[in-house]
Amino acid sequence: MQRNILKGIIVFMLLAVGVFAVSADVEQTTYEGKLMKVSKIWFIQTAAAMFGLDVTALSQTYGDSLVLANGDQVKITGDMIEDVINVTTLQLGEKLYTAKIEESPAATTEIKSYQVNPKRCISCNLCVSNCPTGAISMVNGKAVIDVSKCIQCGICKNGNGQNWKGCPTGAINN
Ligand code: SF4
Ligand code: SF4
Repeated sequence: MQRNILKGIIVFMLLAVGVFAVSADVEQTTYEGKLMKVSKIWFIQTAAAMFGLDVTALSQTYGDSLVLANGDQVKITGDMIEDVINVTTLQLGEKLYTAKIEESPAATTEIKSYQVNPKRCISCNLCVSNCPTGAISMVNGKAVIDVSKCIQCGICKNGNGQNWKGCPTGAINN
């Protein structure tokens, strides 16, 4: 009996050390938030920012649903970073899709923000209404991008794959 108790204590201690070793090795940022689709592009809205998801590498996507599984890799852009992330846990609640995804260590790179060249901007206002995050506004008759709201989805420059083909004068670049 006493021997069993001792064995149990040793196993518990080994497990505790194992868990600590794993958590000490892995330094990762967790993106946790609501998944949504805007103009054919998937986003994850976290408490800090809105990130665009490139899911083209996934083996299965289902039209207007996004089915992520543990181990899936997706590219994430937003908040001035570009990253490849691994999906680690996924919860599908009632009409609320919550993905918990962790970045691959050392994969993060900083990216440039989209910007408007005011000399080319003809003040048509079209990019303002097509930006999914409301990052573009008109200032003194020219479009201006708020980098804190921009998720670098590229819709203002390249279009949304539907009726909007991007800035008609090529005024937006990154
Ligand atoms: S779509 Fe291009 S030209 Fe029109 S307001 Fe935006 S930046 Fe200016
Ligand atoms: S890239 Fe353009 S459309 Fe996309 S969030 Fe930034 S400003 Fe808006």
